[in-house]
Amino acid sequence: MPGIRFDSSESELVFLNPFNNFAEETHTVTVRRDPLLGDISVYNFRLRDKVEFFFGDCDVELIERLVEESARNCIFCGDTIERSTPRYPQRLVPEGRIKIGEAILFPNLFPVGKYHSVIRLSKAHFLNLTEFSPQIIGDGLRAAQQFVNAVYRQDHSASFVAVNANYLFPAGATLVHPHLQMLITPIAYSYHERIIQACRAYYQENGSGYYSDLLEEEKDLGSRYIAQTGKWHWLTAFSPMGNNEVFAVHEEENDFGALSEIDLTDIAIGVSKVLAFYGRLGHMSFNYSILSARDPFSEEGFHCLLKMISRQNLYPNYRNDDYFLQKLLHSELIINLPEDLAIKLRELFLGPNN
Ligand SMILES: [Zn+2]
Repeated sequence: MPGIRFDSSESELVFLNPFNNFAEETHTVTVRRDPLLGDISVYNFRLRDKVEFFFGDCDVELIERLVEESARNCIFCGDTIERSTPRYPQRLVPEGRIKIGEAILFPNLFPVGKYHSVIRLSKAHFLNLTEFSPQIIGDGLRAAQQFVNAVYRQDHSASFVAVNANYLFPAGATLVHPHLQMLITPIAYSYHERIIQACRAYYQENGSGYYSDLLEEEKDLGSRYIAQTGKWHWLTAFSPMGNNEVFAVHEEENDFGALSEIDLTDIAIGVSKVLAFYGRLGHMSFNYSILSARDPFSEEGFHCLLKMISRQNLYPNYRNDDYFLQKLLHSELIINLPEDLAIKLRELFLGPNN
């Protein structure tokens, strides 16, 4: 595939290790570049030894305490949600809030976009990562899509949708209760915009769509391609943007508002599996975003896509997993090789012996 390049380079470095009588030690640092955006990630095999320093184990007692204390004043629990969360004007949402299954969509009290909704996902105040069922995630996405289409009908400037999840405080959530946050905006926010612009540049240069080419190339290579759920293709990222990145690309649709009922079910099935996988790796906190753009972006190769990452574990005095490398240099550290993750995820999606 002429347009897709998986660039990586290696550097060797030497120092005298105080924990081994100052013996000379050689490290190899591999630098990978994202084939669309050029974003850098780095991998050093020896950092595996430091994983416990980077990611301590989740403190179960701390989590239990956090859940119990936060449940006392939770505005998403029980009937409180009816009294304590805002409603949309009738002209936009006739009932004020959109309810599907356990999901309830309402405006964010502190919006950061032209339309900024919160979607409470479950009645339960806390869910383990194995408890985010396809039903719970799917109903949240169905509520999100219903609102997107209500906005589309009234506001032609609303072109960009980002459906986002923050779970627990290492991921930036202020409330424990499982929820999504969705932005519908006339301007795509930075990373979203970079992807759209890069797809356009790729299309102009190659005469083909980036994501169609990527899926073809990754399927051929096989080392990062995980599986398909309906029209969604699941992969690990060559140069991830966060810990244990898994992403999914819809094979044709660019607009979240136009996804079919089956598409929403199929993405929810995958999200549920990946969250269970993060749980199996010992993680509990995560972020994900579904990015969408209305036409004409389909003609430039942009597809509706999902990006998921795990975040730092919960324990007292926990270390933030974004340090200078991520926050200021916009580069990422690879803890688990994407190709190794894909092997494990393939088993989870397809069963053993695939
Ligand atoms: Zn709650």
